[in-house]
Amino acid sequence: MTAATTTTLSVCNDASALMPIANRPSAIMVRGDGSYLWDDSGIRYLDFIQGWAVNALGHCPPQIVDALTQQSRTLITPSPALHNAPQLALAKRLTELSGLDQVHFSNSGSEANEVAIKLARKWGQIHRPDGCEIITTHNSFHGRTLTAMAATGKPGWDTKFKPAMQGFKKVPFGDINAIEKAVSGKTLAVMLEPVQGEAGVIVPPADYLQQLRELTTRHGILLILDEVQTGVGRLGSFFAFEQSAIKPDIVTLGKGLGGGVPISATLTTSSACCFEYGDQGGTYNGNPLMSAVALAVTNTVAEPVFLNSVIRAGQQVKNALTQIQDVAGLTVVRGNGLLWALELSSPLADKVQQRAMKLGLLVNAPRPATIRLMPALNVTDSEIDDAMSLLLQAIKDTTA
Ligand SMILES: *Cc1c(COP(=O)(O)O)cnc(C)c1O
Repeated sequence: MTAATTTTLSVCNDASALMPIANRPSAIMVRGDGSYLWDDSGIRYLDFIQGWAVNALGHCPPQIVDALTQQSRTLITPSPALHNAPQLALAKRLTELSGLDQVHFSNSGSEANEVAIKLARKWGQIHRPDGCEIITTHNSFHGRTLTAMAATGKPGWDTKFKPAMQGFKKVPFGDINAIEKAVSGKTLAVMLEPVQGEAGVIVPPADYLQQLRELTTRHGILLILDEVQTGVGRLGSFFAFEQSAIKPDIVTLGKGLGGGVPISATLTTSSACCFEYGDQGGTYNGNPLMSAVALAVTNTVAEPVFLNSVIRAGQQVKNALTQIQDVAGLTVVRGNGLLWALELSSPLADKVQQRAMKLGLLVNAPRPATIRLMPALNVTDSEIDDAMSLLLQAIKDTTA
């Protein structure tokens, strides 16, 4: 497709009216299709960021276009104080898939985590009156609202906009003994990501979640999993926790759930759910338009053949990265499903990312020496092959 057919709107290229929150490249994205994105000058990019692990089915997939079209002709929103059919169907489907009992929908991962934290605090008021603390992990990421920032383990984030929200205690990720030591009479819950995403795809020891489940049950505290990034098939199972054969008390979903539209969810067991009328709300919570899309995405991703194809594609990414490991000077390759990271031998990740974009490949550099890949879950074999050769080229060009 050429530049002339990519857009009929004239493109405004003045960013001065935006608050300066990110150093973005000057290209303006105007169209997407599957694993590809086009900018306003007609340049095509192979997209291994996909809206930040959001576009589970790639750009503008027919399932989402159909759900949006049909639902927008039927009912966009009645009011959060009234039931609507897509919300009820989505809640039912997510409880079936998770084995948990109840769901509340929000609009972003941060908000879903806020709901989880509120629920844990309310649960504490009833069951652990001395409790006031949630244990989270170093380098974790839980979002950008003030409380989600306080829960987040990025250095300095808890006090960046002080006064900080209280009630979080941080321990190293992947270390069960550190959690055991940190638990006290004040502890309400442990909250963490099954694989740390923003930290650079940090995979914990294989038995970590099982040990965590045992530990939290033994101490009578809640296990909260932030599956905003790992959920909805990203790791090859609908929920990451399925791979450890455990059931958490509370789970949050976001990103992939809407496949590109804003919707998130907080799932809970009925024994952890202690909200009463008025404790939680939100104008757009479970609105039919977003819920219809999330239901279409969920039904597609939850199919066993679809999840098997994620595992297969993930294996292909792993094999390809392992093959280029020596020539590209990679020190570590790690990941699961379709969430992968590679460590460069020097802190050139930003440069590699910029060079890759010049070559027509979008990747992410979450840390100075780390490149992260999060393609669409329906990425094809040849798209993976193309991405790997462009990535190798970008690394060679940058480190030469
Ligand atoms: C992205 C992310 C969030 C925050 O989601 P937003 O939709 O940006 O608010 C929270 N937790 C994890 C694990 C994430 O990856």
